[in-house]
Amino acid sequence: MAIDPIHVVLFPFMSKGHTIPILSLSRLLLLRHGSSVTIFTTTANRPFIAASLSDTAASIIALPFPDNIPGLPSGVESTDKLPSISLFSTFTAATNLIKPHFEKALQALPKVTFIVSDGFLPWTLQSASKFRIPRLVFYGMSNHAMSLCHDVIANRLLLETESDDEPFSVTNFPWIKLTKNDFEPVMSDRNQQETPESDFLMEQFLATSRSYGLIVNSFYNLEPLYLDHWNRNCAPKAWCVGPLCLAEPPRVELEPHRKPPWVRWLDQKRAQGCSVLYIAFGSQAEISPEQFSEIKIGLEKSEVNFLWVVRRNESELGVGDGFEERVKERGMVVREWVNQREILEHESVQGFLSHCGWNSVLESICAKVPILGWPMMADQHLNARMVVEEMKVGLRVETWNGSVRGFVKWEGLKKTVEELMVGEMGKEARKKVKEVGGAAVKAVEEGGSSWRTLHELIDEVKTSRKKKKKGEEEEGWVCRSGGGGRRRKKEK
Ligand code: UDP
Repeated sequence: MAIDPIHVVLFPFMSKGHTIPILSLSRLLLLRHGSSVTIFTTTANRPFIAASLSDTAASIIALPFPDNIPGLPSGVESTDKLPSISLFSTFTAATNLIKPHFEKALQALPKVTFIVSDGFLPWTLQSASKFRIPRLVFYGMSNHAMSLCHDVIANRLLLETESDDEPFSVTNFPWIKLTKNDFEPVMSDRNQQETPESDFLMEQFLATSRSYGLIVNSFYNLEPLYLDHWNRNCAPKAWCVGPLCLAEPPRVELEPHRKPPWVRWLDQKRAQGCSVLYIAFGSQAEISPEQFSEIKIGLEKSEVNFLWVVRRNESELGVGDGFEERVKERGMVVREWVNQREILEHESVQGFLSHCGWNSVLESICAKVPILGWPMMADQHLNARMVVEEMKVGLRVETWNGSVRGFVKWEGLKKTVEELMVGEMGKEARKKVKEVGGAAVKAVEEGGSSWRTLHELIDEVKTSRKKKKKGEEEEGWVCRSGGGGRRRKKEK
């Protein structure tokens, strides 16, 4: 019997934190599941994707990014290149204009088994429905964060709480105490005003709820309670296929002259028997000049070795104030894009001061490095809570007023950095992260939960598409509460 070839179309959102895990998913589909893969992106994002997948047979289709959008600087096609994150809504609105190009290209492709679209591209639901292709959604969030967001919205908890920092209990998880500040302000607007942010949230929600399923970068044993809760009470069905970073090829030790300077520096620290704190706040966080100065004081006063990667728009901050010269024996500041996985996997790196973007959390766990969480926006506050309270693989920085969004003074930073690197709590977290990291490897190995889930997902979509061939009509894919996708019959 001929085996149906599988052809998956993937369309990542144009930000590094959303694109990187989708590229790892492409790798899994190509190399472990024998699928063919087409990745859609835009012209300026193509080189990054092509370089990441240069050893694979993935096809890449680059569509033009809309030009002359009021407010958007020309040539900016990725959110990490936006001059300010306040332009995020303008950027996402501009992506709608890619739709006709996407549909034209989609029409010309060989039969597509399913589309994996980023949740931030809600308009792809219409395209998928037009060509009768099941759409799976990827947000890059944990089941924990998804379930908590669902709970606070469904039970109006953010609307009924007065203060931004007053803790409240989550309805279905009463032992969890959260504050309004753990969520983005758009979620707690009592006046329910229509803003570009709230419209975008609603569009995503509607498109997701009418999609076949959610692909989640996590694994069952990391958060069984939250995955089970989601699949029993929410929709569409979540399929946990991660950690996706483990699909990347293992690190190869390069000749010293081919290594970037910061890796050579880490090698020196390893040779000196020193452990290093890696510091990075992802590709989007914006740190104020005052907070930046306070970090420097905290690091200077602490005794730890550190490697600090700063973002492009922070790279001018404090240049020439003598900080780097004063700490040069034990600290290095990098102003370039680095291979974060390579750094985390380096033997000398024994701690990660992180904004708790979900990719960074998973990459740290997989590298068995404990985390000092300093969340700043989006799902990061919920992730930091999970790191400390549920997984127990890290600690959290202290803010001066106890608010999760409060300013971090150097004293609080120094204290928690030292606790992570040399204290008892850091030791416990280091022990625990080894255990959790080991479970992550098992999940993606042949026969592991994530490995099986991806197989089951592919089989289920293939079977439901075969049934469709037998004559059932459909106009879109809708969710069923707590279960997999099903087709919606055309209303007569
Ligand atoms: N990253 C990297 N090099 C850098 C900065 C970031 O490789 O210099 C990667 C990092 O490993 C992670 C992603 O970019 O895979 C950032 O995703 P995350 O969810 O941690 O944070 P976000 O940038 O979305 O806030």
